[in-house]
Amino acid sequence: MDNKRQIAILGSTGSIGRQTLDIISEYPDRFAPFVITANTSVDLLIQQSLKYHPRYAIVADESGYEKLRCALAGTDTQVACGPQAIADVVTAPEIDTVVTAMVGYSGLAPTIRAIEAGKDIALANKETLVVAGALITEMLAASASKIYPVDSEHGAIYQCLVGERHKDVSKLILTASGGPFRTWRREDMARVTKADALRHPNWSMGAKITIDSATMMNKGFEVMEAKWLFGIDAGQIEVVVHPQSIVHSMVEFVDGSVKAQLGLPDMHLPIRYALGLPAGRLKSDCAKLRVEDYCNLTFEHPDMEKFPMLAIAYEAIKRGGNIPCALNAANEIAVAAFLHDKIGFADIPRIAERTMATIDYIASPTYDDYVATNRAARDYATTIL
Ligand code: MG
Repeated sequence: MDNKRQIAILGSTGSIGRQTLDIISEYPDRFAPFVITANTSVDLLIQQSLKYHPRYAIVADESGYEKLRCALAGTDTQVACGPQAIADVVTAPEIDTVVTAMVGYSGLAPTIRAIEAGKDIALANKETLVVAGALITEMLAASASKIYPVDSEHGAIYQCLVGERHKDVSKLILTASGGPFRTWRREDMARVTKADALRHPNWSMGAKITIDSATMMNKGFEVMEAKWLFGIDAGQIEVVVHPQSIVHSMVEFVDGSVKAQLGLPDMHLPIRYALGLPAGRLKSDCAKLRVEDYCNLTFEHPDMEKFPMLAIAYEAIKRGGNIPCALNAANEIAVAAFLHDKIGFADIPRIAERTMATIDYIASPTYDDYVATNRAARDYATTIL
């Protein structure tokens, strides 16, 4: 093996996974994809394998295995299937960095295995920290593993904190685009359709995170992600709506100074930064921000009544323990049901709140407690659909 950094991309067929492969192709002397995995998109996984020649290609959904095996027979790529195979492969000694770009709770188990194996993590799966932030933080303290955020807001905060002392930080300011309903009236939110919710104004993303952005659950999750990544109390993390998505987030310091990171709304930017760490920035001839094109940057407070999921997220943080895990599970069930036209948009917070109120509270959950909470919350949320 040469001295390229070997990358495992968990979720290579999703939006972040595809863009990570773009970045790897941009720097063929620096990076190579060692493992790629998909949940169900086996055709794209085959195409990617034939193009990038990873050592392993793994599909989580076992029904896709035969197709994958036949298509890659005779190539250098080894194939496997199932969530366990994905969790096992991240410990391979050749791997330097694991990009966690899968959707939802499924990111937890392989991220834990990667931390145990001392791998660097480029974290795109924020649900890992939402569900089990305390456990992950504890594990990181005892491991050589480092987490580098891929989320654009957290990449921005990370950059603002370079060279700063933790005790000098007074506030993190997370920017939110406000999603497609920013300008809607509260009373019109009851008639939101799936097409409305899937129409994000600035960012092109997968369906699940696009709905989470429309409800602002995504921003609530990002508050939790920031709390664990940067060790900052949620009371010192503020959300500000910034419809142009040019300021990716800000940090306020004790002397009143504020630092912001700016850039075009393009996920290649935070992925490139995360993959460049810890060595440094990767030179690119990508499209650059021209500030004179954006002479009207605006900021406003989020409307917590119109976006109850944001208020519910702060409530979950306050209760702590296994409650954010229950909220994540209920949200995954509710969003999937909304995408399948089984419930309305306003039912998503209803299901989240009722599930959070029902689940048995555990103050300091173990890994098994998180697994049990996730299952119980999914079951309960499904019964109240
Ligand atoms: Mg984000």
